[in-house]
Amino acid sequence: MQFIDLISQQQRIREEIENNIRAVLDHGNYIGGPEIGELEQRLSEYVGVKHALACSSGTDALLMNLMACGVGAGDAVLTTPFTFVATAGTIALLGATPVFVDIQPDTYNIDPDNLEQTILALKKGGPAGPPLPRNHPPAALTPKAIVAVDLFGQPADYGRINAIAKSHGLKVIEDAAQSFGATNGEKRACGLSQIACTSFFPAKPLGGYGDAGMCFTDDDRLYDLLWSLKIHGRGEDKYDNVRIGINGRMASFQAAVLLAKFAIFPDELELRQEVAARYDALLAATGDLAKPHIEKGCISAWAQYSVLARDSDHREKLQKKLAHNDIPSAIYYPKPLHLQKAFAYLRYERGEFPVSEDCADRIFSLPMHPYLDEKTQARIIKTLNGNR
Ligand SMILES: *Cc1c(COP(=O)(O)O)cnc(C)c1O
Repeated sequence: MQFIDLISQQQRIREEIENNIRAVLDHGNYIGGPEIGELEQRLSEYVGVKHALACSSGTDALLMNLMACGVGAGDAVLTTPFTFVATAGTIALLGATPVFVDIQPDTYNIDPDNLEQTILALKKGGPAGPPLPRNHPPAALTPKAIVAVDLFGQPADYGRINAIAKSHGLKVIEDAAQSFGATNGEKRACGLSQIACTSFFPAKPLGGYGDAGMCFTDDDRLYDLLWSLKIHGRGEDKYDNVRIGINGRMASFQAAVLLAKFAIFPDELELRQEVAARYDALLAATGDLAKPHIEKGCISAWAQYSVLARDSDHREKLQKKLAHNDIPSAIYYPKPLHLQKAFAYLRYERGEFPVSEDCADRIFSLPMHPYLDEKTQARIIKTLNGNR
């Protein structure tokens, strides 16, 4: 059994993928081919934002979002510790300080109440209130931006996050690496704040055959900045460099693959809803595991179907049973970022983000992809409930 089945998907569109790749071989524009602009146009229409900018990875898209927001040394960027490392790694790479904010226990997304308290604590300079990094006096940090993550495919609470950001003069970046295709009310993920990024890493809901990503914004000025940052800080022409940038381009081959995959993406998104609903129903009958909670008005892209065991021993027992029966499972994420060695310099302590730490001890994810059938799902749940 596969955790994410990319083979069934490929069988469905193999011919289109081959035709699209052959077209790149024929025209020879391996960087900046016509596939890039076509993909940008299709995805910006789908998301419902004015601008989409194809780039090299989700991490580079995040980095460019932060750069376009002017994040740099001395800035504080508020984010969740319960995410993939790139969310906070890119903040630190720019010389800014990641300031962690604990998550909601049911959605696993950043908690708006904690967010506001942490901004207030930063502005007041501590010491009472939520935990702050200890490597700088809080007064030395300027709150600049918020990076909210749509964990496992469900959008964060942008209604409240955007309002809090506005009242404190902060920018909001949507890390939609896991949520492309998700909706919150009338709006799609990647269009829920001023600027957003997603990833097309092969295992994401819309995945390429290599690294690729995309930035989204309605704001013309931010788009111009992103465009320039992607090409080494380009100005009027190729050899006019007006700011420090990166090489953030997407390969034409990736856009060729993504165009073929995007044609069936809306259908796959529907199939993911069915798979998730079947897991929900099967798990409701057992009551031993906490199933995912999706907020009213939200549709998840179901990058992962994650459940909570009673404690870490219970989780270990369940994962062993699954493994014994050749059923893959995974832990996202075993260690929250404030406890990672890479962020030890912030001098946070264990116990300071109790919800994230508790989830890290208990959470695990079951196989999730559009081609998971009812029989297989029943076997997975039966194995969880069985004795071996
Ligand atoms: C996958 C992921 C990224 C990074 O995307 P890449 O394309 O792998 O660089 C960033 N943030 C989150 C939340 C992710 O899941």
